[in-house]
Amino acid sequence: MAKKHCIVIGSGILGASVAWHLARAGAAVTILEAEQAGGRATRDSWAWINASWGNPQPYFHLRQRAMQEWQRLARQVPDVRLDRCGGLIWDLPPDQLEAFAKEHSTWGYELERIDGKGALQIEPGIKQAPNFALHMPQEGKVEPLNAALALLAAARKMGARLLVNTPVSSLMHTGDRIAGVRTGDAVQEADEVVIAAGVGSATLLRGLGLHYAVQAPTGLLVHSKPTRRLLTTLLMATELHVRQTSEGRLVAGTDFVGSMDGTAPDVMAAQLYQKVQAMVAGSENVAMDFYTMGQRPTPGDGFPMVGRPKDTAGLYLVLSHSGITLAPALGLFSSQELLSGVRDPLLANYHPDRLLQPAD
Ligand SMILES: Cc1cc2nc3c(=O)[nH]c(=O)nc-3n(C[C@H](O)[C@H](O)[C@H](O)COP(=O)(O)OP(=O)(O)OC[C@H]3O[C@@H](n4cnc5c(N)ncnc54)[C@H](O)[C@@H]3O)c2cc1C
Repeated sequence: MAKKHCIVIGSGILGASVAWHLARAGAAVTILEAEQAGGRATRDSWAWINASWGNPQPYFHLRQRAMQEWQRLARQVPDVRLDRCGGLIWDLPPDQLEAFAKEHSTWGYELERIDGKGALQIEPGIKQAPNFALHMPQEGKVEPLNAALALLAAARKMGARLLVNTPVSSLMHTGDRIAGVRTGDAVQEADEVVIAAGVGSATLLRGLGLHYAVQAPTGLLVHSKPTRRLLTTLLMATELHVRQTSEGRLVAGTDFVGSMDGTAPDVMAAQLYQKVQAMVAGSENVAMDFYTMGQRPTPGDGFPMVGRPKDTAGLYLVLSHSGITLAPALGLFSSQELLSGVRDPLLANYHPDRLLQPAD
């Protein structure tokens, strides 16, 4: 039987993961990327892999499964370089941190309550140790652009085609199904078209007469010059989330999504970097190098949109904030649904139809 041909639009972490899982399951895969390989939000991400506070229980379970799937993916594609460095968190007042610890322990999240001495044992590089923090040993990080590129390279080894600088201008109908895409004057046919285009997904869906509420908040992260190893864990302190990359850069935001408060970006970056230097021992003489401002593709209710939009055979959508955490699970589940029609129960709350409306 001929292989199913799937076009994946977008080569960020979600498109890369979907493409790799499809190729591994035996599909013929073409990845179409408007710009350079590796995504937009993906390259500007803090890339904390977690199932931390602030999420309802079904979403917690999806994220926790995704953390497990990262371990599987790291065995299958070692070049993604998963670092299960653990997280140290004290960005909530102590009573709320304790409530989070109680709730998430009941849900099965591995965590340990620690005092200042315990925090310094885990992370000797902290200058301002908290009196009460939580240590989550299962949390981790990847270098997000490297991970996406590693998945794309591994997919190509299995026969996937990657076309960069190839924006999809519209999707093509044949009868009542999507049968391919248009890129400039060219037409590329496919059995399935997967939109994994991050903030660009809305434009493609609008061309089909579909609209959904979406936000694309901007997040600012500062990056130091590369330096010797100063941190091993992810630190989530009040108004400062900081980690060190594999090439030695300290990367920080006011929180992991780099929330902004209206302060001018240059000023905010300088203020943030002062906080990094006040927190991380040994960073006093390390200069800030640059800052990034990335847009987070965030469906209106904050949760993933994954699945086949109603009445649109041949089309599949994979869109999410927390795309780094979720990539291995969403890639696996999407490929299973596309190739075998089986939808993972963990996706039950995240069908795109809950948000999709006819466009005006
Ligand atoms: C500052 C910041 C911090 C973050 N921190 C975390 C974190 O700690 N943990 C976490 O899990 N997540 C985090 N995120 C979110 C995470 O980075 C995103 O959810 C994830 O990168 C989304 O991946 P993606 O592949 O959907 O999108 P992108 O990486 O944006 O990739 C989409 C790709 O589609 C392409 N494209 C768009 N339109 C078209 C078209 N018409 N034709 C062809 N190609 C097209 C784009 O060029 C792009 O390359 C953060 C994001 C930001 C900005």
